[in-house]
Amino acid sequence: MNFIFIAAFFVLLLIAIWFAWRYFALKRRVSRYADLLRNRPESFPADIKDLESLSSGVALLNANFAAQLSTLDSQNARLATVLEQLTDGVLIADSNGQVQFANPAAQKLFDTNHPIGRSVAEVVRNHQLIEAWRRCQGTRETQTESVELPARKQFLQLVVIPDTHEGGSLLVVQDLTRVRRLETVRRDFISNVSHELRTPLASLKALTETLQGGALADPEAGPRFLGRIATEVDALAQMAQELLDLSRIESGQVELILAPLSPRELLNSAADRMKLQAERAGLKISVQCEDGLSNVRADRSRLEQVLVNMIHNAVKFTHAGGEVTLLAEAGEGGARFAVRDSGAGIPSESLSRIFERFYRVDRSRTGSGTGLGLSISKHIVEAHGGRIWAESEEGRGSTFYFEIPHT
Ligand code: ADP
Repeated sequence: MNFIFIAAFFVLLLIAIWFAWRYFALKRRVSRYADLLRNRPESFPADIKDLESLSSGVALLNANFAAQLSTLDSQNARLATVLEQLTDGVLIADSNGQVQFANPAAQKLFDTNHPIGRSVAEVVRNHQLIEAWRRCQGTRETQTESVELPARKQFLQLVVIPDTHEGGSLLVVQDLTRVRRLETVRRDFISNVSHELRTPLASLKALTETLQGGALADPEAGPRFLGRIATEVDALAQMAQELLDLSRIESGQVELILAPLSPRELLNSAADRMKLQAERAGLKISVQCEDGLSNVRADRSRLEQVLVNMIHNAVKFTHAGGEVTLLAEAGEGGARFAVRDSGAGIPSESLSRIFERFYRVDRSRTGSGTGLGLSISKHIVEAHGGRIWAESEEGRGSTFYFEIPHT
């Protein structure tokens, strides 16, 4: 009987030892796997005997985690591309006002190379913009501020948005220089047009009043005043036509009818049209065209308009006895056309401005003219893919050039 108890006791002891051994072995393995999970999750064995459910659970977790990571990665990459390509500048600052992120546009607009880790004030360098950021930090409300930076000829608008989670802020800066410039051009344009209209209208009114006051009956003054009225009306009609032309060309409504065109033919045709006018002004007009010059691809009537305008100016600004020469030769970007005169010339400070709308060097000296001709010519030449420019020396004459690509 005793023997049975002793045997049973040993069997139970052996079973207990076996369980204890299994328990400690398992514990050791679990803690090893836990270590692996903590330090090198990628080397976690996917198939662990005895721990199958733990193993498959961790493997699933791993797979989910990897999928989420890759989604996050691709979302991050997309966001980074957007920020990189954005023309608006984006800065992210923390609650201490230290810049944590700046996209390339922000670096360009604020003219800074290494903004990360620097303070907003150091990067932005404009007290109005810094104040807007401070206001946003203080009130935790979005702030907008616009400033003009004359040194950089820039007009910037800054929007500061509070970051509700981190206590920092998001600064979005837009370059409104172009928009502002367009606005100024539009405003100037309207004021120029009104000014240009006022002068002939005032003189028309004065002439009509003089006629009404009795001059109509005067056999000498009556026809003279009527003649001046006709001249003013012609000038107004020309201006209306040029304005219409300019607006059509600028808005791309004018379609060029392109065809191969011989430079020599073009020069001769423009010279023929202006010959009488030049001779009346006591000027000699001549054509010089390089031999063997290839055709250009151009809208004949439009290019003739450019040449006629240049010749018209040359005649207007050259005294009797002078010369006007029309030239065509091979240029860098195609055929180079030129109209050269021996007239009054253009002061160097005005040379870069004469292609602007309404610009006239000296209104008293010009007499007639709207200041629109060269601006229309510039548009026409550029629509052909060419370029236009002028060289001049005051008192010694001017040469107006334009180049048109060959066919
Ligand atoms: P406008 O109708 O006044 O001639 P343009 O646009 O054709 O207008 O010319 C602008 C200005 O450029 C003229 O008013 C004149 O001051 C100057 N200019 C143009 N061509 C000549 C030239 N050949 N010689 C001197 N000045 C010129």
